[in-house]
Amino acid sequence: MKDTDLFEKELNEIFSSDRILKNEPMSRHTSLRIGGNTDYMVFPATIDEIRLTIKLCRKYDMPYYIMGNGSNLLVSDSGYRGLIIKLSDRFSNISVEEDGTVLAQAGVLMSKLSNVIAANSLTGFEFGAGIPGTLGGAVAMNAGAYGGEMQQVVISATVIDGDGNIRTLSNKELEFGYRSSVIQKKDLCVLEATLKLNKGDKRQILDKIRELNHLRQLKQPLDKFSAGSTFKRPEGHFAGKLISDAGLRGFQIGDAAVSEKHCGFLVNKGNATAGDFMKLIKEVTRIVNEKYGVLLEPEVKFLGTFDSD
Ligand SMILES: Cc1cc2nc3c(=O)[nH]c(=O)nc-3n(C[C@H](O)[C@H](O)[C@H](O)COP(=O)(O)OP(=O)(O)OC[C@H]3O[C@@H](n4cnc5c(N)ncnc54)[C@H](O)[C@@H]3O)c2cc1C
Repeated sequence: MKDTDLFEKELNEIFSSDRILKNEPMSRHTSLRIGGNTDYMVFPATIDEIRLTIKLCRKYDMPYYIMGNGSNLLVSDSGYRGLIIKLSDRFSNISVEEDGTVLAQAGVLMSKLSNVIAANSLTGFEFGAGIPGTLGGAVAMNAGAYGGEMQQVVISATVIDGDGNIRTLSNKELEFGYRSSVIQKKDLCVLEATLKLNKGDKRQILDKIRELNHLRQLKQPLDKFSAGSTFKRPEGHFAGKLISDAGLRGFQIGDAAVSEKHCGFLVNKGNATAGDFMKLIKEVTRIVNEKYGVLLEPEVKFLGTFDSD
């Protein structure tokens, strides 16, 4: 038997067939609707399935990548040669304690988690309601909005490393920085996180969520395919303003364009390739740097190989 056959045989022992996809277009799994095929994608429902998958990939030298909702991912047109572990609604339990402690699995969507938190009259997580990713992705990215950040609410996160070791990291050990954490630096997988929130008034919490979501609707091109803000906020500046001042509003390469509504968002107008999108990122970066001497750094994560690699 070939190695691939053996790998697939063992993968089938971990997952039922409806939880393994082969040659799956990544455009179906990213908010940008861009990306070629991944060789494999699996949808674990338990920590043990995640552990066994990592172990199997190690055994067969199969590259693997952890993803959540794909809302911050640009996948190359040639896709991914390896296996994607997608943590989604199958791995999304939430439990809420009397004292405002919330324990949730990495695959839960931030919107769902914020609904449950609000329903329990807990405040402090309103900022997360409109972030269109999973809890795991948000911890990895230290996602934030409107003055809130994961760093402020996460007490600890349980992670698994490439050797299959599981441990719980405290807030400090998670080394949160601006849109970064130790998860990214050390290629860890977030399994679950514990958040601490405060008792509040349910109506006020829901009003706040509505207000923030309304602000998003007003300011962001939510009707277009995007990965949110493409660039990190450069110190002392706003990426969107620099791009707008550089005259790049609406600037387009193929079907990849600078949003007319919010220049910090690069969008796919329908048929953009990852190649177009990458060229646009580079061109915007070059022009802004030339005009203002500020080097924009991508916030979006890249997966797969791109032409210039
Ligand atoms: C319209 C729109 C608005 C947005 N607004 C905001 C915003 O206000 N604030 C903000 O911070 N972001 C925003 N984003 C970006 C995105 O939603 C966040 O970065 C989000 O946290 C990504 O979560 P995800 O589950 O989609 O992660 P993915 O896109 O699937 O992955 C992103 C990164 O996280 C890693 N990752 C995902 N899950 C795990 C896990 N369980 N363990 C370890 N690593 C993991 C991946 O490997 C990858 O490196 C926006 C995106 C869109 C499309």
